[in-house]
Order: sequence, then C-alpha cells, then structure tokens
Amino acid sequence: MSDFVLRDVRLVPLRGDPAPAEPVDVRVADGHVTEVGPSLAVGGAEVRAEGRWLVPGLWDQHVHLGQWALASLRLDLTGTRSVEEALARVSTRLAELPDVPIVGWGHRSAGWDRQPTVRELDEVSGIRPVVLISGDGHHAWINTVALRGLRLPERDGVVSESEWFKVYPRLAEVVGADGTSPDAYLHTMQQAAAKGVTGLVDLEFDQGVRDWPEREAAGAELLRVRVGAYVDTLDDFLRAGVPTGASLPGCGPLVTMGPLKVISDGSLNTRTAWCCSEYSRGGGTGAPNITSEGLRNVMEAGNRHHLEVAIHAIGDAAVEQALKEFEATGARGSIEHAQLISREDSRTMARLGVRASVQPAHLLDDRDLTESFWPDRTDRCFALRWLHDDGVELALGSDAPVSPLDPWLAIAAAVHRSADDRDPWHPEQSLTPAEALGASTDGRGTVAPGHPADLALLDADPLAPGSSLEQATALRSMHVAATWVAGSLVHSEL
Ligand SMILES: [Zn+2]
Repeated sequence: MSDFVLRDVRLVPLRGDPAPAEPVDVRVADGHVTEVGPSLAVGGAEVRAEGRWLVPGLWDQHVHLGQWALASLRLDLTGTRSVEEALARVSTRLAELPDVPIVGWGHRSAGWDRQPTVRELDEVSGIRPVVLISGDGHHAWINTVALRGLRLPERDGVVSESEWFKVYPRLAEVVGADGTSPDAYLHTMQQAAAKGVTGLVDLEFDQGVRDWPEREAAGAELLRVRVGAYVDTLDDFLRAGVPTGASLPGCGPLVTMGPLKVISDGSLNTRTAWCCSEYSRGGGTGAPNITSEGLRNVMEAGNRHHLEVAIHAIGDAAVEQALKEFEATGARGSIEHAQLISREDSRTMARLGVRASVQPAHLLDDRDLTESFWPDRTDRCFALRWLHDDGVELALGSDAPVSPLDPWLAIAAAVHRSADDRDPWHPEQSLTPAEALGASTDGRGTVAPGHPADLALLDADPLAPGSSLEQATALRSMHVAATWVAGSLVHSEL
C-alpha cells in the first residue's frame, strides 16, 4: 500500500454522481481516496495520468475462479502458422509460469510447411510435461517427458487418432488436474487486473473454508475476493462464524465471506431452466431443483448467520419462486442470472431490494437458442432495461468460464446486444455505457473522497458518444493503463 497523488485525471461520471468537467488530481492515502481537486499539493509519490480517464475498480460478480484458472491456463495455439511460431508461444508460457505443466490447444499443423517433431519440443521444454492438442482434437504434439508419463512409446512425430483418443482421458496423470494451484490463481487474477478488475465474487463449487487462506498464504493475493459457500460445505463456514462481508478466518483484508449460493433451477441449454410456460415443441417447462420449503430453510439459515443468499434462477418460474421466499423470509441478497423474467418480477425485485446479478455476455451466446426454445418470450430475456428503470440494483458478471472473465465484454454486450453483423437483439432492453459501467463497480459512482483506492485508469473515455455498435466496439477493446487495489498497484502499463 502506498500514498501517492494521481495527477491530471478525468473522472468518469457514474451512477448519477457529478464529475468535474476538467481534469483533476486524486490523492490516495492509507488505501483510500482522500482528496480530489485541481492542483493538489505535492506529498509522497506522483503518478502522471496525462488526462486519462479514472473509474472505480471493476467487479465481476459471478466467477468460478478455479474453473476459469484451469480454462485460461490452456495455452492458446490458434492461429499459429508454423512450428516455430507454436514453439515460441510454448517458450513464452514456460517463462511466465515455470512450475505448471503446459496443455496447449488449437494449432492446425496440416497447413504448416512442415510437421512438428518431438525433438524440437523437448529442446524448449526440458523436464516439463507439454501436451499440445490440435484444433480439431485429432492429434497431440507431446514432449518426451509427457510421453513417458502417459506410458506411450517414444517417437519423433505426433500421437494421433485412436492412440491419442485412448490416452486423452489419462491426461491428468501427467499435467495434473491442476491449473488450480495458487500460482495459477495468481496468474488468472493478474489477467483480470489488466482489465481493470479489482474484485470478484468466487462462486466455485465445493469450496472449503480453508481453501482461500491456504491459497493466499501460498501467494495468491491480489484482488478483493468474496467467497461463496454452497449448502454442502455450509456447516464449515457456519462454524467459522463469519457474516457476509467479514474477513475469512486466516485471510488478509482482501478475502471476505460472500453469499450462500443455491442453485434453484437448471439452464436454457439443457431445457431445465424452470419456466411458467412450456418450451417450444412440447419441451416441458423445466423443473425446480429445490422445493419452496427447502429454499426457505436456506434463506432462514442465511438470516440467522447474517449471510446474504445468491439464488441461481434462470427461468421465470424459478425467479418467481425465489422472490416469493425472499419476501417471506426477508433474506438479503441476489438472484443470479434472472435470464427470463416478467415485468412484475422486475418490480418485485426492486420493492424487495433483491439485486440482479446478470451476465450480459450470455445473451450473445444464447440468442439463437432462445429464439428456438423460447420464441414466444424473447422480449423478456436479459431484460436489463426493465431492471434498471424499475430501480433494481444491477451487478454485472461473467459466470466465467461460461463467458470470459472480462467486464468490458459484459458491458459491451449490455450496450449493443449483438456479437455479429446482425442488428442488436431486443435493443429496447439495452443499457447505456454509463449504466452498464455503473453496474460493474460494486455500487460505486464517480471516484470521490472516502472511496477505497480500488481504481482503474483507462486510455479512452468509456462514455464516448457514438452508435451502440461503435460504443460496444470501443468498450470491448478498452485499454487499461493501471489498476490499484486498496492503493496498491496490481497492474501497470504507464
Ligand atoms: Zn455460475
């Protein structure tokens, strides 16, 4: 943690808070913003922002961090045009993460001018297991250490077709289950920090109350993390006796107790999201995963132990059920996803003060599926405009690895509801850039004295005018020059 003055920043006006028209200086002391104004007196270090834009640090309110660490650790080999190019990416990764085996994916060597050899992969990788899976999944380029680990005959060419298919399920034996080491978590959080993220809600399954303290002690300490508990490990968390918002025992100040998570219905994909009316072509209505009584018990337990609840509800029947129990128990917390709602649900959420934790990037992926499964109700999907206008607190997230841990992608999807050259999907439900960004700052508006010094410094104005397409394109490629958590620099390209 350090004290400094950030010189010459433009404050981005958010959540209805005013912002000065001209660039100002921002003083950070003891992990907080203490002063904002023109030409602040010198004192401590200075950071020259040169007119860049300053926003509160971004939050991803729904992440499965272990799964995301695992997925994002796969070395991306798509687009490589030669053996040399693929080897260069392997070398870079080896230098970045010296203790983690490498699983790569996505090369298309059929188009290369020559085929890869094990000898040259050995030369760059040495004793570290490396398995590079081709983009079509039909072969793997495996180094000698990994070949031995997989009990395959040594060779100089790739392992392909049935020999490869047989060995694939045993991959974990050499590369470990484990992109989930503290190192992998730290690397993943560094990537998030580079996008301006300062906090996230980790809703990974099967988390024990000791997981984060151990991880943090081993060096995975960078961003604010709220740790969610599920009913199966709830007793351990209850024994630890921490209310939502308190530091998790054994952790530093950044890692705190999050909500109690319940999965109350299924998903659109599998047609298990619980709806008030049938899916198309007699597909049934989906079904609840939990009875109203079960849900009520969980919410009452949450109340007793001062825990917020996070209720996964995708279909409108599940949303309705959750809201009924929020009302009956007075529980505090959020509905996760709220993918299909009625206007009445939106108003009820506002009245009860239930947060909507939504993942706008999913609408890009689910657009076509929704048109085929729910053709009669597409106007009520990802109804961000209703929620915003009715006064519901919106909290954007990714549900990574379902969509990438990238708040700019979520913000852009909320602004322009299309990922291709089609017109936006139900643009009447879109948000403005200011609204979407304001839903990504964990409730904080324009940077002001008293805020924690969780800050992101942007190279461009996130609220620059333009068509929704122009705005979304700019938002998706937003460059973050620096990120601070509690006054500590966690990412810098200044
Ligand atoms: Zn999730």
